[in-house]
Amino acid sequence: MGIIEKMRLDGKKIFVTGGARGIGKSVSIAFAEAGADLAIVDLDIEEAQKTADEIAKNNNVKAIAIKADVTDPGEVESMMDQFLNTFGRLDAAFCNAGICINAPAEEMTFEQWKKVLDINLSGVFLTAQAAGKVMLKQGYGSIINTASMSAHIVNHPQPQCSYNASKAGVIQLTKSLAVEWATRNVRVNSISPGYMGTELTLNSPELKPLIEQWSEMTPTKRIGKPEELQSICVYLAGDTSSFTTGSDFVIDGGFTSI
Ligand code: NAD
Repeated sequence: MGIIEKMRLDGKKIFVTGGARGIGKSVSIAFAEAGADLAIVDLDIEEAQKTADEIAKNNNVKAIAIKADVTDPGEVESMMDQFLNTFGRLDAAFCNAGICINAPAEEMTFEQWKKVLDINLSGVFLTAQAAGKVMLKQGYGSIINTASMSAHIVNHPQPQCSYNASKAGVIQLTKSLAVEWATRNVRVNSISPGYMGTELTLNSPELKPLIEQWSEMTPTKRIGKPEELQSICVYLAGDTSSFTTGSDFVIDGGFTSI
């Protein structure tokens, strides 16, 4: 079997949080194109259902939508139960749901701070923990967490200390889980995207000046597309990455190299 065949995900069962749109949707499409059955997990169940239907229609795979708030331990637990009732096992998990609130540190309310940390860091912990429990019992599995280049550098001028702190936390959480579970064949890695233009951001008139600014600041002089994160996630979810754990993959058009 050639390397491309070995990288396929035929028959694998994967959940993606924040999968309704943006990066989560794009990576879900790639997982399905590689042959995986999927659960699109999101707060926005209508959009998640649309994404799951579109994926099932365009690929010969099963795709379902599950409503869950990743910050709620009970909802994460019942999401996992629903997933296992449908698919029977869990091969990979993409813990990707996240938000950003821009506010100067001296003005950021504690509520804003907690909301970002809750979704971006505690949400990744809860979903990775739920996935890990199942995978440790099975004796295999791969978890991919979404961090950000903001874990490595402080991008500016938008002030976002809570976001930067939460994403740095995702990388250390990823490494901690990877080391704890390494001998039990459960791998945990993260991706750190730079500025990416999702359907939503690229079509937003308010964001147009920001996108121009971000493009100018990125060495490639353009921001990335979610499709440019697909292949690394397919690699990490599959069997050819069997010796890769505790790693963070920066995909940022050279931003953090400056
Ligand atoms: P997006 O806003 O387009 O999509 C996020 C999805 O997460 C939405 O469907 C939303 O409903 C869902 N979500 C939000 N809170 C949730 C919760 N509590 N429970 C369940 N689902 C929830 O965002 P995106 O740009 O696709 O970003 C996805 C991830 O990538 C985030 O973690 C983000 O921080 C990270 N990231 C994005 C960029 C970028 O430039 N877009 C760059 C680096 C990292």
